[in-house]
Amino acid sequence: MQKPVICEYCQKPIPSRKELITTKKLLNVHPYHEQCYSRELKGRKSFLLDNYPINGFSGNLVVFFSILLTVIMAFYLEPFQTAIVGILALVTLFYRFYSYLTYEKLLPKTRPPLT
Ligand SMILES: [Zn+2]
Repeated sequence: MQKPVICEYCQKPIPSRKELITTKKLLNVHPYHEQCYSRELKGRKSFLLDNYPINGFSGNLVVFFSILLTVIMAFYLEPFQTAIVGILALVTLFYRFYSYLTYEKLLPKTRPPLT
């Protein structure tokens, strides 16, 4: 039996990857139910809390574009500036992997059938 992934908002286990949303909060990654995320966090403005989802399609898109941006910027910027943009892209990539390895990998893709 694997360790369940517990929602940070309602403290209940998250049954599948489909219902999981992970967000970065104070340099740490937190898991939420999809409903809890949209109910509580989405659109809330706060300092140091960037509540965009790390996982799922939008998270992958952010990682893809930050790497693409680094490659494009490498042609126009000085090497030092490119390094800074590259580090930011790596941070995004790091959080994506961290989210995957810590939470997503533990969950089945869809909700398991009730037994
Ligand atoms: Zn929840």
